[in-house]
Amino acid sequence: MRLFKSHSCSHPKWVLCADLIASSAGKGPWMSRMLRVWVMDFSESEKNLPTAKYGKSNTSMLEDEDLAQELHLHLQGVGKYVAAKHVAQFVNSPEVRSRLRLKKGITERTARRWMNRMRFRWRKEPKGMYSDGHERSDVVDYRQNIFLPQWEELAKHTRHYDNDGSLDERLFVIGPDGKATVIWRHDESTFYANDRRKVRWVHEDEEATPKAKGEGCSAMYAQFVSPDYGWLHGKDRDAGTPRKTAAVVFKAGKNHDGYFQNEDIIKQVTVAMDILDEDFPNENHVFAYDNAKTHTARAPDALTAKKMPVKENSKFGYFQEKDLDGNYTGEKKRMRNGKFPDGTPQSLYSNDGKFKGMRKIIQERREKGADLPDPGKLKAQCTGFKCAPGATRCCCRRILFNEPDFVNQESRLEEHCKKRGYQVIFFPKYHCELNFIEQCWGYAKRIYREFPESTKEADLEANMVRAIESVPLELMKKFARRADRFMDAYRKGLSGRQAAWAAKKYRGHRVVPDTILKEFDEAHATDIGR
Ligand SMILES: [Zn+2]
Repeated sequence: MRLFKSHSCSHPKWVLCADLIASSAGKGPWMSRMLRVWVMDFSESEKNLPTAKYGKSNTSMLEDEDLAQELHLHLQGVGKYVAAKHVAQFVNSPEVRSRLRLKKGITERTARRWMNRMRFRWRKEPKGMYSDGHERSDVVDYRQNIFLPQWEELAKHTRHYDNDGSLDERLFVIGPDGKATVIWRHDESTFYANDRRKVRWVHEDEEATPKAKGEGCSAMYAQFVSPDYGWLHGKDRDAGTPRKTAAVVFKAGKNHDGYFQNEDIIKQVTVAMDILDEDFPNENHVFAYDNAKTHTARAPDALTAKKMPVKENSKFGYFQEKDLDGNYTGEKKRMRNGKFPDGTPQSLYSNDGKFKGMRKIIQERREKGADLPDPGKLKAQCTGFKCAPGATRCCCRRILFNEPDFVNQESRLEEHCKKRGYQVIFFPKYHCELNFIEQCWGYAKRIYREFPESTKEADLEANMVRAIESVPLELMKKFARRADRFMDAYRKGLSGRQAAWAAKKYRGHRVVPDTILKEFDEAHATDIGR
């Protein structure tokens, strides 16, 4: 594709060009078609690279996940350029109006105001158009080249379910170790005691935290779900012994006054692994998380070239270790070892405890056979660390940045789980349609709203848990199929807009047909240039 892209600008007959490159890669017209779709998406989104920072990725647009999801899908189906009128159209449909309890519809002006508040996901472009993070080139790259291949590999040994909820035997292959794989999708959701029938649009700057007391109490629920077992609980014990659960209820102002942090994520997954070790030892388990900073944070001693001094330094990299509750353990730690080209460890510190500095670290690697330029002739970093595009050997920091041990530094969560034989995978950003737990929250909240309203915290928690536990397993299997369908659509080269269209058209199916792009083109042949 890179080859295609570099040629496409200068080549007027780019269809022919795509055919040529596809056939040179041993692929037919199908590949050519995909190349064209990808490059159109890429070049569009690259032009539109965001300049402003996105909001918190765990901020919910609406309290009502269901509605938020439907609106997102509606807008995703409209295409890359969405205007306020599309939001108004959606909200003013009789069904949505009755759900929102709106007596009259909203104006375009109101819709515009709402959309401005949705900036964490829908970015304002010139001329009042909005576009979706789905097609941001880095997000597409991660989705197509990292996430989907990873998922496909895992899905070879997971169970798939028919429309009626029964196991699809044809698609189920036990892994080489004799075990099936179970993928546990993780997420958090907030439930409110008051005003829970009111839909509220959340500003991008607002944290997704439980509200403080006085503003009406709320609780956050964090849990894992799989289509095989539903929510992650231990198996039932003898009467009197409470069932173990990986669920965490999080309340404002109680044990924490902040929100769910990396430490809480680590604690929760530890409980999850304990339960799985004990009650589900005959399967391989994978945890799938949102691509949020809370989840992808690295360990405090992780390898990073970000702030490394170029020369010897007696203080760099040292820190006081804290336990998961944030208390100092009294132990002094420093940045972990790197790796020489032959795989042996490289300490970043001399025997006297001083940090070696980037130049010496690079020099030692050269002496062990690494093909790196002489660091004595290089700057610490290019001005502002804004190296020329594609440059890898321009300055000391860039060199270390691109060294395999630095590149492959995993998140703390991945390292923590790997030690016990569990894999972690991260969903691409902005793709909540791929994590079916979102639909479980939506269903649970509809049930929750049927319970009598109460301002008591105890009621809130009890109702929340009851509502969440009421999501039927058959429905979860259906939700999982829908997420599978989206993944299949992306795998077949569809963009966010096309995937939303295809998932709707092939409702109930796990995969979309191979001819899906052709079908999309035919269905949209009349509205080109819309
Ligand atoms: Zn540089």
